[in-house]
Parts: sequence; C-alpha cells; structure tokens
Amino acid sequence: MEELLPTGLAWEERTMWHDTGWYFGPKDVSEWVEPIVSPENVDCKRRIKNLLDVAGLTEMLRSLEVEPASDKDLLAVHSENHLQYIKDVSSKGGGNVAKQFGTTSLGENGFQIAALAAGAAISCVKAVMSGTVNNAYALVRPPGHHADADQSMGFCIFNNAAIAASFALRDYELERVAFVDWDVHHGNGTQSIFWNNDRVLTISIHQDNCFPPNSGSLSEVGGKKALGSCLNIPLPPGSNEGVYLAAFERVILPALKIFKPDFIFVPCGFDAGFHDPLGRMMLRSGSFRKLTNMIKEVAKDLCEGRLVMTHEGGYSPHSVPFHALAVFEELSGIDTNIIDPYGDKGNSEISKLLNHEEDVISAAENLLSYVTEG
Ligand code: ZN
Repeated sequence: MEELLPTGLAWEERTMWHDTGWYFGPKDVSEWVEPIVSPENVDCKRRIKNLLDVAGLTEMLRSLEVEPASDKDLLAVHSENHLQYIKDVSSKGGGNVAKQFGTTSLGENGFQIAALAAGAAISCVKAVMSGTVNNAYALVRPPGHHADADQSMGFCIFNNAAIAASFALRDYELERVAFVDWDVHHGNGTQSIFWNNDRVLTISIHQDNCFPPNSGSLSEVGGKKALGSCLNIPLPPGSNEGVYLAAFERVILPALKIFKPDFIFVPCGFDAGFHDPLGRMMLRSGSFRKLTNMIKEVAKDLCEGRLVMTHEGGYSPHSVPFHALAVFEELSGIDTNIIDPYGDKGNSEISKLLNHEEDVISAAENLLSYVTEG
C-alpha cells in the first residue's frame, strides 16, 4: 500500500515583508502616472495562506523550516556581480534593481528577504529528498523565474527554483532535473541559467510574447552544448483549459517521459487565471487542479513523485487564493470541499482547439525530437 506522506509548505512570514513600494506601471516614472502599489504586493500570497488556514488545510501540511540561502547556494546560479549589487542596494535603503523592462523593487534589507525566499525553495528540496514529504510548495515572495544569472527582472530578485534545482543536482547528485513553468509569462531567467546545461530540461508554457518582450519563442531550444534542453510553448492570448490540456498531453508529458528527470520543479504562477490583470488566459481553479494532477502523476512514474513548486506570479487577489487551494488539495490529496465562488470549471474541450491554437501545439510537438533521452 502506498505510504501516505504529507505535502510540505515552506512559508516564512518575513518573505511577506518584501517591500515593493510604489509602482508607476511598466514604463519609467512619469509625472502623469499616479503611483499605485506594485502588482507584486503581499495581498495574493497572504490571502492564499489565509484561505489554507481557514480551510483547515495548513495544519494537515508539513510546515518546513526555512533558512536563508547561503552565498554559495545563490552563487551556484547567480554572478558575483549580481549578488553584490543586490546586497549593496539592500543595505543602502533599497530601490529599483531592474536593468530593463520596468520596475523590480527591493526594500531596505531586501537581500535578506530574497535569500529567505530562495532558502524556502531549498528547504522544499531537502524535505522531499529526505522522504519526510511527498512533494512541497514554497509560498514566498519575491518570485524568481525572470531573474537570470546577472540581473533581477519582472519582480524577481534571485531565481528561487533554479537555486533549489542546482542545490538538488549538487547536494543529492541527481543526474537530471526538469522545470515545467506554467506562469503566464515566459520563464526566461530559468531558461537562460540552464541554456547550455543538458542535465536540465526547462519547459515553459506561457502567453506568446507577453513578458519579457520577444522571449520564449518556439525557436529557443537550448544552447549549442545542450540543444533540446529547452522547450517553449507560447500560447495565443485567450487560451482556455482545453488548450493547456492539449499542450500537456501532446507536448509536456511526452517531453518529460523522454527526458526522464530525477526531480520536477514547477515555477507555479497563477497569472494564467481568467481574472488576472497581467495575463490574458482563461484558466480556472479546476484547470490548475488538472495540471497539478498530471504533473503529480508523471512525477510518480518518473521520479518517485519528487516534485517541488515555487510560487511565481498571480495578481488577482480574488481568485488566486482559490486557484492555489486547488493546487494544494491536489498535491496533498486532501479535499476541503470548499467551492471556488468564482467558478471552478474551465472549458476543456480539446477537440475544439482553434486553428491558431492547434498550430502552436503542433509546432511544439515537432520539437519533441530535440529532447534528449534520459
Ligand atoms: Zn507571471
């Protein structure tokens, strides 16, 4: 009989204190733009935790202890320059640390918070590898998947999932790890960090050319030393659950089965949800539940269920908590019987893909021949 192990939750209150300050939109500060709180503020994340609490689910998860990532852990994926820059800005009161594409804010002592977020992802890996949990979720901020080796970007300071994966490869001597990034924006930072690493398969399913600009096309398949280590599925805006299910069944699951990872990471954004102000997709809570189920099942088949999710985007404080509850229910196998009041069901009729949706998925399917066999 299958042993019942809990799901790990890495939650560190101080990561909610990450101060993103005033926001002036995606463009530079303008005298005509009234400042507003950043979309990457504490609300969605804290409301997820609050819903898990009131649903009675938190106490059924294993609470993981979180230590800050060490410089060695951070330097496994980031350059000395980037680390030092973040430390300097952090110690001098904070500021915008993005070198391009708008604002990525860091408050005073924000370095310590960003190191805690990366450390939470590492604690998830430790818990899964030690066998105390089946799978784990790092519910932290700042997010990570846009940060590359040398720069912060898109609200991300350090690449939490990449740091955790490097830790897994190094400290547990795993041979191969895979990422399935379903944040609505391209997982450019993770892709860039592992561009020439054939031990890492980075898959990103995202809205075509949303953020960063001109990033995440089908033609990006990995560097010369690791062709096929990278797979992008840039879906058209408006894609619903059926399109995502088709992409998973025809591209993502087959790619994982070819590559045979020892560990699967999901940079988990909820901004492909239908309410999201920073994306134009149509997923519902039930859709995130189905995607989680597919990944959980393939992880069981390929890598003894080893699965860690790191929290990325998702900016509707109304529906994100319910999307996340669905993911936690599926990860843990515990049903809270709470119904998403915004509507749980997505349109899942794969047979009704529109021509321009079918075209992308067919093209991505053709890239499977590049994926290296594990
Ligand atoms: Zn996002």
